[in-house]
Amino acid sequence: MFGLWKTAADTTKYRVEKTDAQWRAQLSGNAYQVLRHEGTERPFTSPLNDEHRTGIFKCAGCDWPVFSSKTKFDSGTGWPSFWAPLNPQAVLKRTDTSLMMVRTEIHCANCGGHLGHLFDDGPRPTGLRYCMNGVAMGFQPGAA
Ligand SMILES: [Zn+2]
Repeated sequence: MFGLWKTAADTTKYRVEKTDAQWRAQLSGNAYQVLRHEGTERPFTSPLNDEHRTGIFKCAGCDWPVFSSKTKFDSGTGWPSFWAPLNPQAVLKRTDTSLMMVRTEIHCANCGGHLGHLFDDGPRPTGLRYCMNGVAMGFQPGAA
């Protein structure tokens, strides 16, 4: 589940900051592993993968809106996938060098929680694929 090398310590200051113990108490086990320790959920396990209603996807750690149903697409990977974040302030990118590969991690811009990874094999118009862990997000049906 985890790489041999942890990513460099994140020194960004976030609006929502909690101790590791506080996060562990607040989150489900799987959400904690993904959001706080860069874990990856097993594919095809999140109900959000098949969520096709109109609405907003929010960070499971802090409720920050991160993605809209408008940019969600079926990537076939088993992970909820989007071709753009909700807005430029929604998420942050960070370089992940675990697993001996360089990948771009996507984090919640509000609490720093790890949401997933970014790849460049997505559909138009951006060509990007935000490959997210459903357990790291919640869904609020309604306006998108
Ligand atoms: Zn968050």
